[in-house]
Amino acid sequence: MEYTYPEYLYDFQCEASDCKDTCCAGWKIVIDPVSLKKYKNHPGFFGNRLKNSIDWEKGMFDQYNGRCTFLNEENLCDIYAEAGEEMLCKTCTRYPRHYEEFENLREISLSLSCPAAAKLVLGHKEKLIFLNEYRETPEEEYEQFDFFLFTKLNEIRDYFYEVIQNREWTIPFRTALLLSTAHDLQKRVDREQLYGVDDLLKRYRTPHFQKTAEKKFAAFQGQGVKMRTQRRKLWQRLYRLEVLRPRWREYMKKQEELLYRDLSQEEYEAAWKEFAAGDGCRDVEYEQLFMYYLFGSLCGAVYDGDLFSKVKVAAVHVLLLRELAFGAWLSKGKAFVFEDQIELVHRYARETEHSEPNIEALECMAAEEEEFSLEALLTGVLG
Ligand code: SF4
Repeated sequence: MEYTYPEYLYDFQCEASDCKDTCCAGWKIVIDPVSLKKYKNHPGFFGNRLKNSIDWEKGMFDQYNGRCTFLNEENLCDIYAEAGEEMLCKTCTRYPRHYEEFENLREISLSLSCPAAAKLVLGHKEKLIFLNEYRETPEEEYEQFDFFLFTKLNEIRDYFYEVIQNREWTIPFRTALLLSTAHDLQKRVDREQLYGVDDLLKRYRTPHFQKTAEKKFAAFQGQGVKMRTQRRKLWQRLYRLEVLRPRWREYMKKQEELLYRDLSQEEYEAAWKEFAAGDGCRDVEYEQLFMYYLFGSLCGAVYDGDLFSKVKVAAVHVLLLRELAFGAWLSKGKAFVFEDQIELVHRYARETEHSEPNIEALECMAAEEEEFSLEALLTGVLG
């Protein structure tokens, strides 16, 4: 089995009791069947505590005041302390590592919902590279795994990495190029013309193509009113998602009022210009966010054939995170430091990445709704 992972994976260290937003609070932890069996058979006093602190019907740890019942006052795990690391369930052992599964391949990322992981992802200054490792395991054979499509998706993703890591271009230009090429590539996938992907990628890499794209994108610039309206519509789509933390919803509402109600159009545009000019030094953070989203989702198109929606969702996440940063910058008297970015990004990821219904809802909106069309997104990004 091959494993692919970002180069910082092994640098991760849990902040344990120093963590300001421990992963054992705020959501219910699902226990895998093997661990459930271990907990059922654990002897003695701690075995009784385990038996009495699990919702056996749902296969989850009980919570007390929104915290896992095993999370003690020092913010440390009692299962780890009393019964040892090997007694942790799969979710707790793996988190914040996230595994995407393909035939004979696992792609591992660190989830942004963990503040320590978010620091590694966003604090990475160099252009990110991915490493491979081979481990001896029995060969896998997935039913109906389209290996040809998977190979092409990997080539497409490599091209997207090149676009996102081109530091001579602004983040809006990189985003627009990514969206428009993904739109065209999707047509090839739909028409089963995968053999044409190589030529298309070759063309995309020419300066002529990039110059033409630049000219086309000019039509979407200087449309402040439309841009703001589009951003607000995308922002409001988040209210349709399952709420994991009510305080996050309140925060979103407050920031929405600030950006789209309290500020006049002129004030919004002037403040945005100022923010984006100073925000430039954060381009590397947005580049790393894009890399994170593309690595974690794009090749999943091997299972549904929908690469464009995955790119749209990635672009919307980055757009909204930038908009949220803009709101936070305004609320904090035009100051926004790395720690603020981590706070924002990890809270956002907790809402959007750890609920299957939310992940599905976002992909559905991206596939079906007008606000997620190429034109609408280009307006929100470039306007
Ligand atoms: S959120 Fe991350 S740093 Fe905090 S306790 Fe969980 S794994 Fe550790």
